[in-house]
Amino acid sequence: MTRPRATTLAHGLVLGLMVLEACAGAPSLGPVAVELTVPPPAAAPVPPPPVLGPSLDASFDSRPEILLASDAAATTPPDGRAPLSACNEQPPQDFLVRSNFLRAPDGNGRSIQYRTDTYGSVPGFGHPGAGALPARGSVVTTTFMGLPVRMHKKVVPALRCVEEEIKVTCGEHPYTAHALAGVRFNNTYRGGEVTNHMFGIAIDIDPAINTCCGCVKPWSSSPLCARKAKTEYDRMAMPECWVHAFERYGFYWLGHDVLRDTMHYEFLGDPAKIQRSATVVGGGDGG
Ligand SMILES: [Zn+2]
Repeated sequence: MTRPRATTLAHGLVLGLMVLEACAGAPSLGPVAVELTVPPPAAAPVPPPPVLGPSLDASFDSRPEILLASDAAATTPPDGRAPLSACNEQPPQDFLVRSNFLRAPDGNGRSIQYRTDTYGSVPGFGHPGAGALPARGSVVTTTFMGLPVRMHKKVVPALRCVEEEIKVTCGEHPYTAHALAGVRFNNTYRGGEVTNHMFGIAIDIDPAINTCCGCVKPWSSSPLCARKAKTEYDRMAMPECWVHAFERYGFYWLGHDVLRDTMHYEFLGDPAKIQRSATVVGGGDGG
């Protein structure tokens, strides 16, 4: 088990919270702590947005990019918004689900190779083919529920499908997200796994209030984790309805995992099947 390290955010955003994000990190040797700075609530004074992309300072490496609602106006809205009717429902692919591949012979290796072939390479993992591009080169800024987030371009249409689903089906369970975290450039797993955040196919929603009770302290010591509850749904701020909306379009919720990482969704579906027609929306498998 790795102890959390403390760092300071250059723009003074740090709230001092140490987030163990399983999404983040929990290997065969146990969960790994990951620092995650959490932005203040929307009403708080908003500092400058973090530096993104290749210019990321090394000290930011182990931190996913978290963008604030106020950054939305400065980002480019995603193109090709598709009507919900264009979205295919699909389940996560079984061999990519963490609890499955950790049990299978070379299951982790197979999952890494699939992700490398499908989304691009991450340094030090998988066997990229000749001319293979790094996954980070396919990361784009998009929005989800009005918030900016940086994700792999192939999963942007799936996020759009989830967003439309939430708007249609979750009206009775209103929830406003304040912070999202998408791509990150350092692996926060140990023991040979690779976080889906490195491929740009995972998204965390409000890490400060959606728990990770299977992680190390302080996350496992959240009062919500001690609460008497029937399911993990009762230990987070996000409505269960959101989980079902994500799951309908190929995302896996890590709240189901032993890590109980309720903030985290990862796209484990087939990106070529997100939409009914490949010609409807850009950002699919075209590049
Ligand atoms: Zn995550």
